[in-house]
Amino acid sequence: MRELLRKNIAELTPYSCARNDFTGEAEVYLDANENWQDFVGKVDANRYPDPLSVQVRKAIEEKLGLPFANTLLGNGSDELIDNLLRCFCNPGKDSILIMPPTYGAYRVFADINDVKVETVPLTPDFAIDVPALEAFLSHEKANRSGEGRLKLLFICSPNNPSGNAFSLEEIERVCSLFDGITVVDEAYYDFSSKPSAVTLLGRFPNLVVLRTLSKCWALASARVGIAVASEEIIAVFRSMKYPYNIGSPSQRLALKALKEADAVQQGLAQIKEERTRLGTELAKLACVHRVFPSDANFFLVRVTDANALYHSLADRGIIVRNRSKEMHCQSCLRITVGSKTENDKLLAALAAYKEC
Ligand code: PMP
Repeated sequence: MRELLRKNIAELTPYSCARNDFTGEAEVYLDANENWQDFVGKVDANRYPDPLSVQVRKAIEEKLGLPFANTLLGNGSDELIDNLLRCFCNPGKDSILIMPPTYGAYRVFADINDVKVETVPLTPDFAIDVPALEAFLSHEKANRSGEGRLKLLFICSPNNPSGNAFSLEEIERVCSLFDGITVVDEAYYDFSSKPSAVTLLGRFPNLVVLRTLSKCWALASARVGIAVASEEIIAVFRSMKYPYNIGSPSQRLALKALKEADAVQQGLAQIKEERTRLGTELAKLACVHRVFPSDANFFLVRVTDANALYHSLADRGIIVRNRSKEMHCQSCLRITVGSKTENDKLLAALAAYKEC
């Protein structure tokens, strides 16, 4: 792993904040230039948060089974994606590989960091094109000049926007083909019945798995993403992250949600039930050509005319995502599985649409 790191990151002397220097309990804190006054009501908003989110990570170990020593929290998993790019990719030299259609942030964050993006598209049925990937990786390896190389490979599983999860065997195959850092983004993992890539961490030390509390745990506004990786990679992440990247209100919300694990499981069951119903009902509509199978909390749906349907739904106050311009997504909308009431409104609006 260390030879994959950017030199400046490998040699970094991390910023040491007040809460790193002293971690016990004290009576008087005069170490962080905080304001002793609290104007918003006994929530410790005047104090800096725990930089290592210890309580939350303990709860994550207990409820999600992700070992404490192998986790680090980000301001959403988006921050962790950006951190990966900043740790491993030399701007203007190194590259990442994505498999479109996939989550758009990988490319945007790479662009921001001046990191080149290589693509090996999924097949039209949204499977990993293993022969094409194998050919690309061996060609890239054979042609490395020393002036940069492929550092990160992103697998999004379940994949956004197609909704399908990849099998553990496919992910394992990619990990064994690639000699850089394989990142498996499992933002929608909870909605899937396929096993997590976390089980591969012991065998592939250069694997990083990303999770989030934004989806199944219904905490999108708290911005809590989770990186799961070897202790060595976690130590690097810890050395370069913003010192106080997760505010105390967010840490408190995360702890609260994790304590409500049973309610969250019930909520998950409801979403899965609605997913089945919505998928069945959508497939019956004349304007719907194909509902792609979903392991996530959304469907990719091929319709007669995605642009017209998008605007018709928007006129009725229903916003979906038009994904028509993405690879293999011609005339496709991405539709989140909402509450029963929301889904009923969507279905009623579709039924009223002249082409359906
Ligand atoms: N990964 C995927 C595949 C996503 O779809 C999203 C958000 N839509 C994220 C990561 C980012 O999630 P967050 O930053 O809220 O954790």
